Amino acid sequence: MVEFENVSKIYQSGQPAVDRLNLSVEAGKITVFVGPSGCGKTTSLRMVNKMVEPTSGSITVDGRDVSGIRAHELRRSMGYVMQQAGLLPHRTVLSNVATVLRLNKVPRVQARSRALEMLETVGLSASMAARYPHQLSGGQQQRVGVARALAADPPVLLMDEPFSAVDPVVRAELQQELLRLQRELAKTIIFVTHDIDEATILGDKVAVFASGGRVAQYAPPEEILRAPVNDFVAGFVGRDRGFRRLSFAAGGSVPIHPATTALWDEDARNASGGWVLAVDVEDRPVGWWAPGAGHDAQDALVPGGSLFQAGGTLRAALDAALSSPSGLGVAVDAAGKVTGVVDAGEVLAAIDAARESRR
Ligand code: ADP
Ligand code: MG
Repeated sequence: MVEFENVSKIYQSGQPAVDRLNLSVEAGKITVFVGPSGCGKTTSLRMVNKMVEPTSGSITVDGRDVSGIRAHELRRSMGYVMQQAGLLPHRTVLSNVATVLRLNKVPRVQARSRALEMLETVGLSASMAARYPHQLSGGQQQRVGVARALAADPPVLLMDEPFSAVDPVVRAELQQELLRLQRELAKTIIFVTHDIDEATILGDKVAVFASGGRVAQYAPPEEILRAPVNDFVAGFVGRDRGFRRLSFAAGGSVPIHPATTALWDEDARNASGGWVLAVDVEDRPVGWWAPGAGHDAQDALVPGGSLFQAGGTLRAALDAALSSPSGLGVAVDAAGKVTGVVDAGEVLAAIDAARESRR
């Protein structure tokens, strides 16, 4: 556990970069520091491994005050990953990862095999090991940075905007990889980002920093989206926070009604007076027939919207309902068979109920 107690940092002149920070970082979890640029996230992070000395206050790691621990000893117990992976350009990927181990006096052969193992852990093939950093993509370099930070198996991992310089697709991939790794490794991670989406995806808890180096809110992501404590947090989290929150809530409470279905290549009239869902012989949805449409099979078929998979979220349920031409979202099981339909009004009511029950 990392504990900040009344920690302030004032660089040479005037304004505090970090102002009386009080915060407990839970062991084995991902804590995200998020906020606009210049609000003291990096400074706060760097005080943990003594790259920056606090002006006042104390930081303890597992009860030990870091001011009493020598910097090199402290850093051995903490991996550090930055935005530009910070790899040594004239060393191979393998050597970059093994270097930390060598500094820790791990014998060469052992260091190399551990480094190879770490590359595999972060999803890089052994064929990358002999390359130089400039021969890798930005995303691959970041993976090497993570492998290097994890090589000595430190209990604490400090990550400063590690994915900010890669494109959004790779970034999403790296986020998922980090979550997967964390399920196995359960490190104490402090992760800095300026991106609220990244914060809510990764954080077990999120600290929203405001300018002047003050933490405006420290809470689980779902709570920050649901109940921002002030206008600053609300503004930072954005207008669509209500919608973002849905990704966290299970859709199990949404009633699923029986669907009126017909085989898509059947040539019967739609006499039901309502929308009819066309399905294939496996009961998978194909499209909709409007009320009264004489369904000459394909011709009158209106394409359907997104599907609500069993076990999906309220967001998926609402997506399905709103994207369907009938206003009814199609619910399917894991095999893609239709299990029924959900009604947009009822999904919205379920969202309201979820909001109430979390108050
Ligand atoms: P963030 O990571 O949230 O962008 P920083 O911790 O890097 O914020 O910076 C917080 C404030 O401290 C900013 O106003 C920045 O200009 C200032 N600052 C950061 N590092 C230094 C430094 N080494 N010397 C003087 N001022 C600094
Ligand atoms: Mg920063």
